[in-house]
Amino acid sequence: MTGGAAGDGVPPAVGMSGGVPVTGDRAARGPGAEDTVRRWHADLAWLPAGGMRPGVLIEAAGGRFVSVRPGVGAADVPGGTVRLPGLTLPGLANAHSHAFHRALRGAAQAGQGTFWTWRERMYQVAARLEPDSYLALARAVYAEMAMAGITCVGEFHYLHHGAGGVRYADQNQMGRALIEAAAQAGVRITLIDTCYLSGGLGNDGSPEPLAGPQLRFGDGDSERWAQRVHSLGADQHGMLAAHARLGVAIHSVRAVPPGQMHPVIACSHAYGAPLHAHLSEQIAENQACLAAHGVTPTQLLDRVGALGPRTTVVHATHLTGGDIEELGGSRTVVCMCPTTEADLADGVGPARALASAGSPLSLGSDSHAVIDLLEEARRVELGERLITGQRGSFTSAALARAATVAGHACLGWPEAGEIAPGALADLVTVALDTPRLAGVSEATALESVIFAGTAADVRGVVVGGRDVVRDGRHLLVDVPAALDYAIRPLLAP
Ligand SMILES: [Zn+2]
Repeated sequence: MTGGAAGDGVPPAVGMSGGVPVTGDRAARGPGAEDTVRRWHADLAWLPAGGMRPGVLIEAAGGRFVSVRPGVGAADVPGGTVRLPGLTLPGLANAHSHAFHRALRGAAQAGQGTFWTWRERMYQVAARLEPDSYLALARAVYAEMAMAGITCVGEFHYLHHGAGGVRYADQNQMGRALIEAAAQAGVRITLIDTCYLSGGLGNDGSPEPLAGPQLRFGDGDSERWAQRVHSLGADQHGMLAAHARLGVAIHSVRAVPPGQMHPVIACSHAYGAPLHAHLSEQIAENQACLAAHGVTPTQLLDRVGALGPRTTVVHATHLTGGDIEELGGSRTVVCMCPTTEADLADGVGPARALASAGSPLSLGSDSHAVIDLLEEARRVELGERLITGQRGSFTSAALARAATVAGHACLGWPEAGEIAPGALADLVTVALDTPRLAGVSEATALESVIFAGTAADVRGVVVGGRDVVRDGRHLLVDVPAALDYAIRPLLAP
């Protein structure tokens, strides 16, 4: 099913706050958008213009907010209004996910290992997945995300084909499983279809052929990648379904030779689709790129015209000063994944320098070492503190914007991520009476939630006006049972 525009088809206004476009387009609503009018009364809500406000009466119809009124007393609330105790935030956006990596959680911590031994284990899991098992796993993982307050996921998808690279009857069967998984979990998805052509850069700079499980990732060349992506059937605005839109990706400079990048960029232009790429996650990638091409990975992406406001680079951990200027000056978004970067010993990226140079920041749980956007958010600031010896590089509001409006924008949903009239009706309510947060004051509730809250404190989640999580329970999926069912066979000897 395709349909209307998310916005008006122009590239998302990355980092926007306020001025959410109203299309009135029913097809662009979230999953299961409610037709009926719904009202909530938030004890506290974080609003784009007003910051933290008490007593906020929020009304939605057709899956979008129609009015947001702070300062309304409990006695003045209409009948049938749902009270939201705690702090209510806009929906969180997880801008970088590889759903199947969730199966490695914990298992990849045993003993000692490098990034590259982790990657070998990841390939083992990848080798076992088929469309049915991928659907089961992704459904459970996206439902876990919903319980953490994530209402939209950017799935960086490269597990395209069967064993040995053999095509399924529908070449997009794996991608369609992810779209279905998001629907069943009650969240939106941007399917970031990823071009992945080579296994790395050899010592002489030439691309190494895909081997073993990597054969499942490859389409041969980027023209054939583009043909497959076109057959996904996105409309001219890149919509794949009411809850799903298309994104595209250059996996990395290791996996896509520069001469193969243009069709991916052209596909992004054709659909107004977000363009994502892993960038400088490891020093070894920089060294290989310099040896092969004589430039940094950032310079290589710039040279082929891949940078800009519709582009998001993921990690951006090891950059030169010139790289930071090029990314910021081009308004390229940077998606940081601090828990994964810590888990894989990648390093700490220059978040403050990038933001100051002009790059909006978004957040991702990437390998799902944990799924907790609040932790990702605070680690951006805490990483800066550890590196610089200074506090206060980012305010809690700036970190919250990375987790909400900036994340949605870089996934092609600029009409989500704010509690404002016209925006998609997504709400995340964080309980303030939990062991971690009890005793907070209203004035600093956002600071408390960003710096001490966890996914376990998320009590309620509304997506497109519909309840997905209520009283800390997912209404569509038994998440622990679904995860156990999906993961156990993947790790069996
Ligand atoms: Zn990644």
